[in-house]
Amino acid sequence: MKTALITGVTGQDGSYLAELLLEKGYKVHGIKRRASSFNTQRIDHLYVDQHENHVNFKLHYGDLTDSTNIIRIIQEVQPDEIYNLGAMSHVKVSFDSPEYVANVDGIGTLRILEAVRILGLEKKTRIYQASTSELYGGLEENKNAAGFYDENSPFYPRSPYGVAKIYGFWITKNYREAYNMYACNGILFNHESPRRGETFVTRKITMATAAIAKRKQEVLYLGNLDAQRDWGHAKDYVEAMWRILQQDVAEDYVIATGKTTYVRDFVRMAFAEAGIELTFEGKNENEVAKVAKCNNPEYQLEIGKTVVKIDPQYYRPTEVDLLIGDPTKSKTKLGWEPKYDLASLVKEMMQEDLKIM
Ligand code: NDP
Ligand code: GDP
Repeated sequence: MKTALITGVTGQDGSYLAELLLEKGYKVHGIKRRASSFNTQRIDHLYVDQHENHVNFKLHYGDLTDSTNIIRIIQEVQPDEIYNLGAMSHVKVSFDSPEYVANVDGIGTLRILEAVRILGLEKKTRIYQASTSELYGGLEENKNAAGFYDENSPFYPRSPYGVAKIYGFWITKNYREAYNMYACNGILFNHESPRRGETFVTRKITMATAAIAKRKQEVLYLGNLDAQRDWGHAKDYVEAMWRILQQDVAEDYVIATGKTTYVRDFVRMAFAEAGIELTFEGKNENEVAKVAKCNNPEYQLEIGKTVVKIDPQYYRPTEVDLLIGDPTKSKTKLGWEPKYDLASLVKEMMQEDLKIM
């Protein structure tokens, strides 16, 4: 039986990864932060009474800013695999708390790597680092000849989050080269699910669409509708993380769908899922979306009603305009391919949020 340790187990990816590893017969340990209210909603269904026999899922209090705590947990758990998913993961918020992000997302990665080294576990413990497409920064000239970002594309981060994560990327690669550790970066493009945090654009849209359809909210305020993202499903992406740690040689991989979509079109798709057709009018800060047709008699929204407006407070000081990843390496070397497409992702998110509303 293999043992895995997941930082960020209470997050979107941590919860899907814990499910996947438990299904595969792993003993799974997770690090959660102490909070003044419960923060384990995404993993409560996995938790079993610790007094029972054969408990395979265990939580430890911890924080990536606390080296001694990280060392102690790794010493106790003796993991075969560590998945470092813990992070302050919101790009816009990283402009408000840049130092904290550097500490958690950047130095936090170093703390994990150093703990493994200090404990002499370099040969035993494999490490997955949650790197991100935000490293690329969306610069047109840095795409490959086919028009994608791949493992060889140059980085140009455009936020404190991206800059902190670039430290995490390089320190992981450096420890692999310097100490011969099995430490890999998964450069994951955006991935979503019904468990996505409520302030990321996809979930914000599906929650608000459900609320507007059910007449519990009037208007959805968004920022840049012209941004384009390569969106996949988190369930597919945690499968890739696991595969990255099962190879003979430690390497870095891009995980993406290879397709990109405007935020505006994600809005359109979410409303369409609820039977509401939209028309977009105006430009930039004056753009609005209005109800063109309401095909679901349950919702009865009036034609011409404005349901989406722009609020410039959601613009970023520096924006990543377009992301699209090249999954060729992960397809050929890991045998990984996404099972979900964007339509099925939006459908699942909308169904869940309509249920919640
Ligand atoms: P979430 O924001 O859903 O989860 C982040 C997790 O990190 C939560 O469990 C959170 O705990 C924990 N965390 C935050 N700060 C600390 C800290 N100081 N010490 C320990 N744990 C902490 O992110 P995702 O699940 O979506 O993403 C997982 C990882 O993948 C992150 O590192 C993210 O940056 C990266 N990534 C995500 C992408 C995506 O599209 N989802 C794309 C590329 C990379 P709590 O629940 O208490 O807040
Ligand atoms: P990111 O790609 O990691 O920054 O993921 P997000 O889901 O936070 O943002 C994706 C894109 O949507 C970015 O280009 C944002 O500028 C854009 N966007 C537009 N409106 C909003 C909004 O209201 N909230 C968020 N989070 N992003 C928005």
